[in-house]
Amino acid sequence: PYVVTENCIKCKYTDCVEVCPVDCFYEGENMLVIHPDECIDCGVCEPECPANAISPDTEKGLEKWLKLNADMAKTWPNI
Ligand code: SF4
Repeated sequence: PYVVTENCIKCKYTDCVEVCPVDCFYEGENMLVIHPDECIDCGVCEPECPANAISPDTEKGLEKWLKLNADMAKTWPNI
């Protein structure tokens, strides 16, 4: 799946949400996350993010962000 990372914090753009074909973004107070079981790996959101906050989980060092996305997607509302 794709993963939302640090640069999303306090970003107020939702361009990623607009383009996601499966609506797998969830919103917390300060950032968005992607539900890893719902993301179909299409990659459409990555270039749309003006904060450069979205990466594929195959990138190195994103384990902690993948876990945060997975955990928070279970508790935050879908947008
Ligand atoms: Fe949605 Fe595609 Fe981005 Fe996954 S990679 S969050 S399915 S737009």
